[in-house]
Amino acid sequence: MRILLTGASGQLGVELSKLLSQKNEVIRLYNSSEVPDGYKIDLTDFPHLEDFIIKKKPEVIINTAAMTEVDKCEIEKEKAYKVNAEAVRHIVRASKVIDAYLLHVSTDYVFDGNKGLYREEDIPNPVNYYGLSKLLGEAFAMSYDDSLVVRTSGVFRNKGFPVYVYKTLKEGKAVSAYKGYYSPISARKLALAIEELINLKKTGVLHVASERISRYELALKIKEKFNLPGEIREVEEVKGWVAKRPYDSSLDSSKARKLLSTDFYTLDIEGMVV
Ligand code: NDP
Repeated sequence: MRILLTGASGQLGVELSKLLSQKNEVIRLYNSSEVPDGYKIDLTDFPHLEDFIIKKKPEVIINTAAMTEVDKCEIEKEKAYKVNAEAVRHIVRASKVIDAYLLHVSTDYVFDGNKGLYREEDIPNPVNYYGLSKLLGEAFAMSYDDSLVVRTSGVFRNKGFPVYVYKTLKEGKAVSAYKGYYSPISARKLALAIEELINLKKTGVLHVASERISRYELALKIKEKFNLPGEIREVEEVKGWVAKRPYDSSLDSSKARKLLSTDFYTLDIEGMVV
């Protein structure tokens, strides 16, 4: 298959790039962090983006690119809207022209976190601008029949909470674990699930994330697994955060578990030591 991958320089993009290029032709897009054989395209340069997609004519488009820094999105709302929402509208426009299948990656942060273990049909209600901009991006993706929105949670590889915990404890320092739950998944496992999904050409919305866990419990597991010094504190707020965070944004991935053969669900602590 000929696959166009946005965000090829990101955590998920790097894993997908490696995995998919074994059996497919992968057209890699990045913005500021160059990738080998990649094309530098700013997703907010909409005419260039549409033109590029139409000329390359991929059968499948995987949109992993996003402005993912939650606090930055709160401060730079206009930019967040352009990358996380408006760019998706333009990807959809181009997908329609060339009849491409679109897999769009979204987030647990579309939910308010009051309930937890969210199912696909639960009503989103974001508590911050990152979540809102991603929700708008979902709406654009869903306006296209041949698309799948994959919502995930706490992606980690070379960054993310587990990596912060590992590095901080290893240095013998104290970790602050923000009180609350989510479903952190390694970029490696998420990539394996996405590979299966593009072969199945599923449409609609699907939750693909790991088991529900509190950040505190997760930090403890990492400490035990790697026998690290440092101490762990559960905290109600984190200094420097601008945007609100949902308390329990964990996702119920039972639909995806029935559908997929890969075990994306079991927590992959090793997936962060890259
Ligand atoms: P990263 O932050 O690691 O990577 C983001 C990617 O988006 C980079 O490749 C970056 O390119 C690209 N990008 C950002 N802005 C632009 C732009 N203007 N034009 C083109 N490319 C751009 O993200 P992850 O891999 O962690 O996340 C993948 C997806 O999963 C995202 O859609 C995210 O919303 C979603 N998600 C992530 C979670 C997480 O905890 N990280 C949790 C839940 C969902 P470059 O670096 O070259 O500038």
